[in-house]
Amino acid sequence: MISETAIQTLIDKLGKENVITAAEDLLVLGYDSTPGLHATPDLVVYPTDSEQVQSVMQVARDHKVPITPRGSGTGLSGGSIPVDGGIVICLNKMDKILEIDEENLTATCQAGVVTLDLFNAVAAKGLFYPPDPGSQKISTLGGNVMEDAGGLRGLKYGVTRDYVMALKCVLPDGSLLSTGGKSVKDVAGYAFKDLLIGSEGTLAIITEITVKLIPPPQDKRTFLAYFDDISIAGAAVSKIIAAKIIPSTMEIMDKATINCVEDYVKIGLPREMAALLLIEVDGHPAMVTEEAEGVERILREVGAAEVQVAKDAEEAASLAAARRTALSALARVSPTTLLEDATVPRSMLAETFTLIERLTKKYALTVGTFGHAGDGNLHPTVLCDERDADEMKRAHAFYDELYEQVLAWGGTVSGEHGIGIAKKEYLARQIGPGGVAVMKRIKQAFDPEGILNPGKIFADGQE
Ligand SMILES: Cc1cc2nc3c(=O)[nH]c(=O)nc-3n(C[C@H](O)[C@H](O)[C@H](O)COP(=O)(O)OP(=O)(O)OC[C@H]3O[C@@H](n4cnc5c(N)ncnc54)[C@H](O)[C@@H]3O)c2cc1C
Repeated sequence: MISETAIQTLIDKLGKENVITAAEDLLVLGYDSTPGLHATPDLVVYPTDSEQVQSVMQVARDHKVPITPRGSGTGLSGGSIPVDGGIVICLNKMDKILEIDEENLTATCQAGVVTLDLFNAVAAKGLFYPPDPGSQKISTLGGNVMEDAGGLRGLKYGVTRDYVMALKCVLPDGSLLSTGGKSVKDVAGYAFKDLLIGSEGTLAIITEITVKLIPPPQDKRTFLAYFDDISIAGAAVSKIIAAKIIPSTMEIMDKATINCVEDYVKIGLPREMAALLLIEVDGHPAMVTEEAEGVERILREVGAAEVQVAKDAEEAASLAAARRTALSALARVSPTTLLEDATVPRSMLAETFTLIERLTKKYALTVGTFGHAGDGNLHPTVLCDERDADEMKRAHAFYDELYEQVLAWGGTVSGEHGIGIAKKEYLARQIGPGGVAVMKRIKQAFDPEGILNPGKIFADGQE
């Protein structure tokens, strides 16, 4: 429990309006977007600048209270849930784009800037910030950096990590760390920036981020390909890449997802199809024409049931928007949605779809699979009901068996959602006890008192 003295210090430093203690507000800020996870914080603070973040960290330290950073709470592994209570520090009010530097092609933002707001601000200046997680209308850049978020354009343009040039943060001892800069080359000292990216709020609180911008593609072509066998869709992805064509987007939805999305957005998706691929090629117009021809040829060669080309940018945007609704559309169907983040080498996609189908039957479950097929990153989603103990047992057995094979194929238990609470038990299976031991030593070096985002990443008993 946090003391009245600590609360008063926070009110003095941040102002009463930025310190939330009402039970009904605390309740909602104890969730992120991971189904079934919740914990209530003792209080929530909204700092507006880096100095205030330092003050909050100081109070947490002085009073030995856990502190959990939070952006918009769209995380899908429980990273911003305050498992041990204490303070939740929400960065949403630090939402200023501080600079768009057109000479260096960089943008510098406070950590609470919403991803799409940055995209739109730089687009207005003829520039491009590619990372586009499905949650981009809400997620913050701080959350994106801490989860190393990917997106629909990840295949060609990479993930958040590929764009972060500099970070400013507050360390658990209250001191400031600034790492990286606008120079495109920098090998001075250990690469703290790279260590912090993807660290899920367990090493430092990010206050400011400088990202790289690039010129936007001049042209784009969007395809929608339908398949009556999902493993053919997987083979199509591998063949397109083997033909040395790197589309900006290759997203997949299986039959269950197509039907849920169609129920939700009603854009005329064919319900009878086993899978669809949304494919975009972009770049110089001559290259787009050449790549588009190659993609269409391969889709027909592998046996796509139908290939459509979006007639204009508006139709292309509405198809991408429909894909972004996949998780929400699936989540409407059942009381509980268990979403996973299995990622395999792209050459194993067809086998992964076959495996998911086999396990779905074996464990008698309803599963909808969608994801960033071009990245080998799939989200097999079990639609279930947590009140049904037997169904939950089968769902966990499904994931256990799936991950065993995914790891055997050289894949990973998380392509983009992070470990958080949800995948703690799986991490050691992937990186081994030696890997976990080194990670713990790093955590210890940053946060010797263990006050920053406790209960995350390391399985119980490993902390
Ligand atoms: C519908 C939907 C679609 C999604 N699609 C994608 C997708 O395509 N690709 C993808 O990668 N993810 C996706 N996600 C997951 C999620 O949106 C991302 O992980 C996102 O980066 C989280 O941002 P956030 O601001 O909501 O962070 P939160 O959920 O609030 O926090 C995420 C983690 O970062 C930490 N954190 C947040 N801000 C800071 C900070 N300033 N300093 C230190 N730590 C911090 C938190 O402690 C937590 O561990 C999706 C989620 C939803 C609900």
